[in-house]
Amino acid sequence: KHLPLFLEGEVVKGFGRGSKDLGCPTANYPLEVVQSLPKDLEPGVYYGWAQLDSGTVYKMVANIGWCPFYQNQQMSVETHIIHKFDKDFYGSLLKVSLVGYLRGEKNFGSLDDLIEAIKNDIINAKNMLELPEAQTVKENSFFTKSQ
Ligand code: ADP
Ligand code: MG
Repeated sequence: KHLPLFLEGEVVKGFGRGSKDLGCPTANYPLEVVQSLPKDLEPGVYYGWAQLDSGTVYKMVANIGWCPFYQNQQMSVETHIIHKFDKDFYGSLLKVSLVGYLRGEKNFGSLDDLIEAIKNDIINAKNMLELPEAQTVKENSFFTKSQ
């Protein structure tokens, strides 16, 4: 339901939950983008495509969750682009398409378990995005090409 879902907005500062320290930086969207989500969108981990400022379309995993910062009244969308960037890109326009659902939100017993789960999510996302249905979404005109 709702998939593929297309979102776009500026990359803003997150809540500094140290995603980067876990080796998994997540680009955050401002509240307006989050408020535009379907109200019954299932929280959890999604895979899909991401594009910064009309550049390359990369694979991504996104965590959609209830945000403790807003007393769980607001969702948060945090996108990890599966690519190594040399620098931060706060202020860039991030276009994202959610293609499929990987798993629900879980509580992890330890930090190691969490890191293990994220590694697994990335492996699964990479594989799922090779499928023809996912490739079709990548070609969607939503992702603008420069020139
Ligand atoms: P914040 O709490 O501000 O979101 P993070 O530790 O989650 O901080 O880091 C997110 C930031 O890291 C992004 O806004 C972006 O500027 C930068 N970044 C660098 N590489 C990536 C990547 N591969 N995916 C997502 N964000 C990245
Ligand atoms: Mg973040």
